[in-house]
Amino acid sequence: MEITIKFIFFSCPKKKCLNKIEILLSYFHSFLFLTDKIKYMGLTVFSDEYYMNEALKEARKAFDAGEVPVGAVIVCKDRIVARAHNLTETLNDVTAHAEMQAFTAAANYLNSKYLRDCTLYVTLEPCVMCAGGAYWTQIGRIVYGAEDEKRGFSLLGKPVLHPATQLEKGVLAKPCSRLMTEFFRKKRD
Ligand SMILES: [Zn+2]
Repeated sequence: MEITIKFIFFSCPKKKCLNKIEILLSYFHSFLFLTDKIKYMGLTVFSDEYYMNEALKEARKAFDAGEVPVGAVIVCKDRIVARAHNLTETLNDVTAHAEMQAFTAAANYLNSKYLRDCTLYVTLEPCVMCAGGAYWTQIGRIVYGAEDEKRGFSLLGKPVLHPATQLEKGVLAKPCSRLMTEFFRKKRD
């Protein structure tokens, strides 16, 4: 932007061009203001909602495969380093929850068993097994969408997560739980 303004100024240093420069500057300020506004509203590309949407895409893959629709992504320094969805039916393995696979994939990708600089985004509240897995990874943050009233780790009423793990609940909770409801309704029909 700065380069454009200088170019106009030097190539046409007449009075009317100063107006153009003023207009350009005002656009530039509006742009900065808008960027700040967007950041303030939490609508940046790297928002929790953005990554939860990516986890939802994984959950939809599970849905289409006839699996309980839970999806997860792990993010490290604004980059998705693992994507996974529930595969318990496909692998005939009750431990093949989205989070467990995401931990393994992220650890492989980062070549580190600890995920201290990472955030797990998962569409459903983790179960006790996955919360226990998260403990061992020492993951920095967990963000989940819908509550799991039957199997969620919070039902235990004891601290399961690592003391360094921050927790955020209810991000895009409605679409996350809607997918679960739709899946079980379809299964009953
Ligand atoms: Zn689990």
